[in-house]
Amino acid sequence: MSYVFPPAPPVCVPVVGSTNTFAVHRIYCVGRNYVEHAQEMGHSGREAPFFFMKPADAVLVAAPGVTAVMPYPSLTHNLHHEVELVVAIGVGGSNIRAADAAAHIFGYAVGLDMTRRDLQNDMKKQGRPWCIGKGFDHSAPIGAITPANQVPGIADAAIRLQVNGQDRQRSTINKLIWNIAETIEQLSMAWTLQPGDVIYTGTPEGVAAVLRGDTLAADIDGLQSLHIRVE
Ligand code: MN
Repeated sequence: MSYVFPPAPPVCVPVVGSTNTFAVHRIYCVGRNYVEHAQEMGHSGREAPFFFMKPADAVLVAAPGVTAVMPYPSLTHNLHHEVELVVAIGVGGSNIRAADAAAHIFGYAVGLDMTRRDLQNDMKKQGRPWCIGKGFDHSAPIGAITPANQVPGIADAAIRLQVNGQDRQRSTINKLIWNIAETIEQLSMAWTLQPGDVIYTGTPEGVAAVLRGDTLAADIDGLQSLHIRVE
């Protein structure tokens, strides 16, 4: 096989305790999956899960111990942080039942669903797709993936985000409206999941703007921390 130009290499995320890396296939995101965040965005918090996607090459890898640099994106004056648990799929499938979901999970990571909130809000008002607000370059920072068997307590873990050392978001994974297994069940009805898919499971309350020069520290108990600086 020859190509008219060299194909892009796969986007790869480090795996804790392994020299193998996790090649990303697709990035799925869940909207409004914590009650208090749904309320702060003006919604009831009681609705079926809904999904949007980011391109795989929107991933910004923050390797362990490294503060990754995120360029401040174009067109926005209101770049928001959303700290999220990321579920990494290792075994694909469609119509996966919640009771079987665990067998499809490779591991977990800390992620940031960075959002051009002003553009997302404009698109919402006009009933247009969110892509420009959500799926831009470097919009999906992610830390190293920890294999699932090393984090048995993930369902009750604490999740938090600090900006310049100050608390911004703080919650627990057990406050997800649609838990990890239910999210996989619902998502796999709509798309055939593949090894390499990652799911950003939604953010708790406290989303707010970041500015050039800000440093973000995102943590979930049992997982590798994620550090980025916006420049
Ligand atoms: Mn989000």
